[in-house]
Amino acid sequence: MEHEIHRLAVTMAFQGAEETVYPTVLRDGGRAVLVDCGWIGALPVVERELKNIGLSVRDLTGLVLTHHDHDHMGAAAALRRANPDIKIYASPAEEPFISGREKPLRLQQAEEMQETLPPEMQEFGRAFCELLRRVEPVETDGLLHGGEWLDWCGGCRVIATPGHTPGHISLLLEDESIVITGDAMALENGLPVTANPQFALDREEAEASLEKLLALKARAYYCYHGGVYLPN
Ligand SMILES: [Zn+2]
Repeated sequence: MEHEIHRLAVTMAFQGAEETVYPTVLRDGGRAVLVDCGWIGALPVVERELKNIGLSVRDLTGLVLTHHDHDHMGAAAALRRANPDIKIYASPAEEPFISGREKPLRLQQAEEMQETLPPEMQEFGRAFCELLRRVEPVETDGLLHGGEWLDWCGGCRVIATPGHTPGHISLLLEDESIVITGDAMALENGLPVTANPQFALDREEAEASLEKLLALKARAYYCYHGGVYLPN
């Protein structure tokens, strides 16, 4: 079987406003690897999207988590319950927050920010902290440090793209010249930017990681937020 790369559109409504994120599925031979999996409660939407490309959750062999944010790993524990054989991969720097061995950095950040929020933002801040506390941890099965070459889809290079979070990773699919950016790059008004720079745990590092991805001069950049960036 030739390999295939699919973008899933996972849409959910939050207080009336719809949001969409774009997990990617890498298929080759008997392998089907999902990259990021959406929010808490997103599994039914992921299942519908998988069905559109002829897959079920049970067909997934792997899940790569680019980092520990709730919109990327929120559905991971539910996904594993639906498919106990799935192998979950993340970087060693994200693993403690994904497995719940350490308090997620994003929650630590949100709790710290809560103290400085203006009164009209307090309720939003509290709700966000509550949401982050509801993310179910999952154990990882394999670590991706960055720099690895995997034989997925004709060659997949793991790229360390820290900044948004310390252990963020992106993937370069060499055959297709496609980068799966995670949150190292988002698309805003057709332009590549760092995702939510105000929340980057290290803003300078995040900028450097965006530059690193652009320097790859890939044909296409599959952003988790926004869309596909085609440089040419
Ligand atoms: Zn995100």
